[in-house]
Amino acid sequence: MRRKLVVGNWKMNGNRAANASLLSGIVAGFDAAQVDSAVCVPAPYLAQCEAALAGTPVSWGAQDVSAHAGGAFTGEVSAQMLAEFGCRYVIVGHSERRASHAESSELVAQKAVAVMGAGMTPIVCVGETLDEREAGQTFVVVRNQLGHVLERVGADGMAKIVVAYEPVWAIGTGRTATPEMAQEVHARLRAQMAEQNAVVAGKVQILYGGSMKPDNAKELMAQPDIDGGLIGGAALKAADFLAIIHAAA
Ligand code: 13P
Repeated sequence: MRRKLVVGNWKMNGNRAANASLLSGIVAGFDAAQVDSAVCVPAPYLAQCEAALAGTPVSWGAQDVSAHAGGAFTGEVSAQMLAEFGCRYVIVGHSERRASHAESSELVAQKAVAVMGAGMTPIVCVGETLDEREAGQTFVVVRNQLGHVLERVGADGMAKIVVAYEPVWAIGTGRTATPEMAQEVHARLRAQMAEQNAVVAGKVQILYGGSMKPDNAKELMAQPDIDGGLIGGAALKAADFLAIIHAAA
């Protein structure tokens, strides 16, 4: 039985005062012992998360990482640096980075390897655009995106990743994939991993992301291959984020 995992992706939101009340609200209301939870915050706030969340059941992480170990890469943050702040998770390949920073699936795979090399868990995002879905390309697109990562991490490394299916057309639009649509893709992704190792594939958490809210979280996470959520907008209010965590329990 896979544990459910609910991760908040704050994106480029927050400030010290707002973060403090959001984090304390989450910690105060978190009582779902059977659910794993984390917040992925802008890098400058990792120290604040470390101070507020250490010793609580809520983990924290980053939204991106450099594929490089160190050196002349102005503006970049290495996996080792994130690990120093106690990060457990790092999102890689979010569609907003693929689209506005031209990140290729190969670069995403390199980032996943860097994250694992520093002892953290990459949350590997895959997902199709509306055009790709309407052209019947959904499975081809996500298979290709995940395939690059699987090729690099191998069957053993696969045990140490989390996958997030985030249809691009559902992100921030209020338009959610139906539970059946999401389940269909999740099952395909798990089957793809099972080609490498069925036992390990059965253990990998596959999250759904894209307008997951308190009122649709339960039916999405009731699907057999949906193991939690990657939450954007609804992760910015403690009550909503907690409601989604409770829906997972
Ligand atoms: P929304 O929940 O705001 O649609 O964002 C989803 C997302 O992109 C999480 O990474």
